[in-house]
Amino acid sequence: MPAFALDLAAWLGARTDVVYLIAAILFIVGIKLLSSPETAAKGNFLSAFAMFLAVGITLLSGQIVDFTWIAVGMAVGALIGIVASRLVKMTAMPQMVALYNGLGGAASALVATSEYFRQLPEIGPFLITVILLSLFVGALTLTGSVGAFAKLQELVSGRPLVFPGQHWVNLVLVLAVLGLVVGVFLEPARQPLFFALAGLALVLGILVVIPIGGADMPVVIALLNSYSGVAVSLTGFVLANNVLIIAGSLVGASGIFLTNEMCVAMNRSIWNVLFGGFGLEAPGSGAGAGAVAGDPQGQVKPYTIEDAVTVLENSQTVIFVPGYGMAASQAQHAVRELGEALEAHGLQVRYAIHPVAGRMPGHMNVLLAEANVSYDLLFDMEQINPEFSRNDVAIVIGANDVVNPAAHEDPDSPIYGMPVLDAEQSRTVMVLKRSMNPGFAGIDNVLFLRDNTMMLFGDAKTTLNRLIEGLKQ
Ligand code: NAP
Repeated sequence: MPAFALDLAAWLGARTDVVYLIAAILFIVGIKLLSSPETAAKGNFLSAFAMFLAVGITLLSGQIVDFTWIAVGMAVGALIGIVASRLVKMTAMPQMVALYNGLGGAASALVATSEYFRQLPEIGPFLITVILLSLFVGALTLTGSVGAFAKLQELVSGRPLVFPGQHWVNLVLVLAVLGLVVGVFLEPARQPLFFALAGLALVLGILVVIPIGGADMPVVIALLNSYSGVAVSLTGFVLANNVLIIAGSLVGASGIFLTNEMCVAMNRSIWNVLFGGFGLEAPGSGAGAGAVAGDPQGQVKPYTIEDAVTVLENSQTVIFVPGYGMAASQAQHAVRELGEALEAHGLQVRYAIHPVAGRMPGHMNVLLAEANVSYDLLFDMEQINPEFSRNDVAIVIGANDVVNPAAHEDPDSPIYGMPVLDAEQSRTVMVLKRSMNPGFAGIDNVLFLRDNTMMLFGDAKTTLNRLIEGLKQ
């Protein structure tokens, strides 16, 4: 390295906290920019640059004894990151985010363990407290996130898994955790207790996630995201590293805000989500054509593309309602093209975005932005719901739970009280999906049997392309 570069590195290395402060300010500005789709890409870049600064200055700080394992770790991590960014499909992003949360937790638990053994036998009360907290939150985040990953990847059932006395088992485990924390705090050299605490935290992570299912998963994912931030922040206290404390707190706090937003979107309290065992009483899934529980009189009415084109040609307003099926079928570009074709026919086109549509917060916004749909056409649930009763056609593209009228019509439904998009109030509702299968929450949808509903069965992208063709003729 040239001499001036070495001088600069040494100069910067002596000012670690100043660079940490700059990084922290950039993190905050980055998060602020992430709050709007227009500035989100800039915010992402700024935050990544801040992280680069923080990592770079830590490496230059003169505290690293040997760079070998750091280099190996960075090479392996970069390789996994590059491969994942190329191979993981957009539909699998929520699972990947869940897994990354878990890895953040694992890193915190490992750092806590290594510091524990490095400092033994004498560890002061503050340090042992943050080591134990970092171990506990990190380990719980790891297994909780792996559980969320397994549910989202459908490796295990998305339905809540409960067993008799579950709350009591959890209570006993929490009391045992408290006992172990006190035991190690009073006598830090009690290594078996330290490992027992790690084991219990891992078990609790699984037990916390398995009873949650159905439509409540977004809340859990946001909460685990917050836990991973808390774990990182605690690691900052363990290592006395300011940037970890700040960055972790930012993630922890924004995760809590997101959790709250998700709870509001579902009209549920966090206690209700964590201890409610949502979806247990849900009617059976996959009721099959024409047999939706709760509305046995209804009839499914499959229509042809020609029928749908005729209705569209005689309409003035259309509201698209995208859901997970749009992501699964990668239909976002076809949606934009159909929107443009309808506008060319003189129709007013808008998009209704439900906060938990898809499988991660902001999922629909990301996909529609990728397809260059103008932000001005996207409307939140509160803005668009009053519009449905004045609207001609609602085109529901692979959405199911977020348009289920049972949420405000059927007090026995597990999703009763959850705010949904009132698509059924449109003059005509076109539903694009492949079958009568239920959505993520596993509950049937009476919307599909309504007199004003036209079912257009098939893959969403194929159906949209056929509609575009039909409109051209
Ligand atoms: P949904 O209720 O999960 O329904 C998606 C529908 O898409 C299914 O009924 C499926 O029906 C259809 N579909 C799948 N592949 C398709 C394809 N190729 N073409 C056409 N249709 C296809 O979706 P949603 O209405 O967006 O609701 C989201 C659900 O996920 C909520 O319950 C929410 O709580 C939950 N969740 C959300 C998040 C989040 O953060 N947003 C995270 C975790 C869970 P067919 O099989 O019949 O085609």
